[in-house]
Amino acid sequence: MIKIIQSEDPVLRKIAKEVPIDLITKPKIRKIVGDMIEALDSQSDGVAIAAPQIGVSLRIFVVSGRIFDEDFISGKGSTEGNLYIKVRKPDLVFINPILKKISSDRKLLSEGCLSVRPIYGKVRRATRATIEAYNEKGEKIVKSGSGLLAHIFQHENDHLDGVLFIDKAKDMHESLIDEDYENIDTK
Ligand code: ZN
Repeated sequence: MIKIIQSEDPVLRKIAKEVPIDLITKPKIRKIVGDMIEALDSQSDGVAIAAPQIGVSLRIFVVSGRIFDEDFISGKGSTEGNLYIKVRKPDLVFINPILKKISSDRKLLSEGCLSVRPIYGKVRRATRATIEAYNEKGEKIVKSGSGLLAHIFQHENDHLDGVLFIDKAKDMHESLIDEDYENIDTK
């Protein structure tokens, strides 16, 4: 099982390095992306993960296909242990991401982090954001998101700059679930 690094570890505070473009499709980077997905999948409430969270200081993050699943968003997803078969939406891989457009419109949303268990808090972030990056095939991609996805983009981008949500959050508290936001949090 891949270990998820917790907040005391200095790797989470480093500015992560860019991935050389010609290495994206090589085994080393593929393995790192695979390990990130495995770590993310090991957490039933995980929605995204950045490479520093598995101890790799490179500019990569992955957003779980789970967040596009309506049942997951509403908290009735496949994590309840019922027989529940569904085609999973693909995970989105962002390599060397750049936050391009962010809206001036901001909203306070509850967040948690796989590396800052079990703390939740509210962070004010742009409600819409666009990311330019490379995907795992080395293709340039542009993705825009609003609401939860926009918050995730900003939370994950912060990880690559050594910033944790607790640096910005208000109303921080410990909880086993994020009761403020229908059990969903932007990891
Ligand atoms: Zn996080």
